Amino acid sequence: MRYCLNCGAENPPEPCENCGLTMQLAAFIFRRRLVYFTAIFLLGTMAFLPAAKDYPPLELDQMLVFLGVVAALTLLLAVVLDQRARRGQSLEALRRIFRALLPLPWMLSLLLFVNGWLDKTPPMIAVTHVVSKFTMPGLVRPHRLIVQSWRATGRLERLPVDEDDYSRFRAGDAVEVRVAPGLAGIPWVYSVLRHEPGLVIRAPAQPHSP
Ligand SMILES: [Zn+2]
Repeated sequence: MRYCLNCGAENPPEPCENCGLTMQLAAFIFRRRLVYFTAIFLLGTMAFLPAAKDYPPLELDQMLVFLGVVAALTLLLAVVLDQRARRGQSLEALRRIFRALLPLPWMLSLLLFVNGWLDKTPPMIAVTHVVSKFTMPGLVRPHRLIVQSWRATGRLERLPVDEDDYSRFRAGDAVEVRVAPGLAGIPWVYSVLRHEPGLVIRAPAQPHSP
């Protein structure tokens, strides 16, 4: 059985009686859309980078892993869709999954941006020390300070910082991490400062009374 690449009609006559396109034109439109949609998706993953740079979430690495998995899945689907289109096989189910994945990086980027940009709650201050640091060559060049966690959940935090902060802190340094709660509840790193011993540290800001 063959399917119309444009509307999914089964065994379409030439031209398709449902959408009026010839097989050749339907194939051309299908490929062009596939390329456009893939490009829109990749732009969304690019938009994530400035959002994560301005308002770096505390769990940035987990988000990057998630985005990487979604990107790999979407690109794989684009390849499979193209192959199935060449063989004239049914596309509808995969096409629906592909389209559902397309807005994800855009939504995640927008969420991070709004989460930080509209967050007016004063950041809480945690005093901790740097255990080690980590960077990687390449296009994105992540800079992470690994610090002892102040939270009950984990023993270490991987703080996303800029290149300046990365180079000025060393293992053993005491630091003040300012973490804002985020409008959408995604905590993000407001700043990392050197902790000067002897200075009185304000208690974490607690704007909400119980
Ligand atoms: Zn059709």
